[in-house]
Amino acid sequence: MIEVLGVHKSFGSLEVLRGVSLNVAAGEVVVVLGPSGSGKSTLLRTINHLEKVNRGYITIDGELIGYRRRGGKLHELKEREILKQRKDIGFVFQNFNLFPHLTALENIAEVAELSDARHFLERVGLVDKASAYPRQLSGGQQQRVAIARALATRPKVVLFDEPTSALDPELVGEVLDVLRDLARSGTTMVVVTHEIGFAREVADRIVFMDDGVIVEEGPPEQVLDHPVHERTRAFLSKVL
Ligand code: ADP
Ligand code: MG
Repeated sequence: MIEVLGVHKSFGSLEVLRGVSLNVAAGEVVVVLGPSGSGKSTLLRTINHLEKVNRGYITIDGELIGYRRRGGKLHELKEREILKQRKDIGFVFQNFNLFPHLTALENIAEVAELSDARHFLERVGLVDKASAYPRQLSGGQQQRVAIARALATRPKVVLFDEPTSALDPELVGEVLDVLRDLARSGTTMVVVTHEIGFAREVADRIVFMDDGVIVEEGPPEQVLDHPVHERTRAFLSKVL
């Protein structure tokens, strides 16, 4: 469903992704771990074409992201076509990114039919908060609205960038419950998180990134309990 092949990304002279390749099957849940600054957010942002790659390519369900091939050459898609492509890719940010002047329901209805907006608000257990504004919701509830909004376009994949990092500890559980539920229902997901317990329980595969490369990957038991690389061991010894 997601194919990332040989992706390089630099900001000026800083090479942040140094040849990243990653395939995610339909229905698979991949958790990305790694130290701060290792390129996790940049990787997610390139998948959504929020960042353009310098080398390599990305496809979602076989469709090239951000470009069209014509006459053996790549042409960048127009903004309108990129926006259309992004509907296939749900993105959940660390800081919720809700519109403060819109209610929970209106935030979702910005991107979907009203009936779908209600359906997905119900799915995250917040139908009783439909008319509440973000400031009237807890951080956990705001993030659940953001997840409902990400689902409401019925994307093929959903990307989560540290979805619980901005939450008070007592609110983390309700958001992880929603993610767990999505994972069980067969949603194709890539989740950047430091919640190791969640990763162990929910991930089909864990990918460990450091310094712009994927250092190792495998099933949770393998990567968490028997890491092969010194850098993975060093990271885990700090977070476990
Ligand atoms: P992570 O999510 O793993 O913490 P990031 O992908 O956010 O890592 O960042 C990787 C590196 O790229 C960091 O050194 C960061 O400062 C740098 N970086 C990220 N975005 C930009 C940008 N827009 N311009 C310049 N440098 C950036
Ligand atoms: Mg990040």
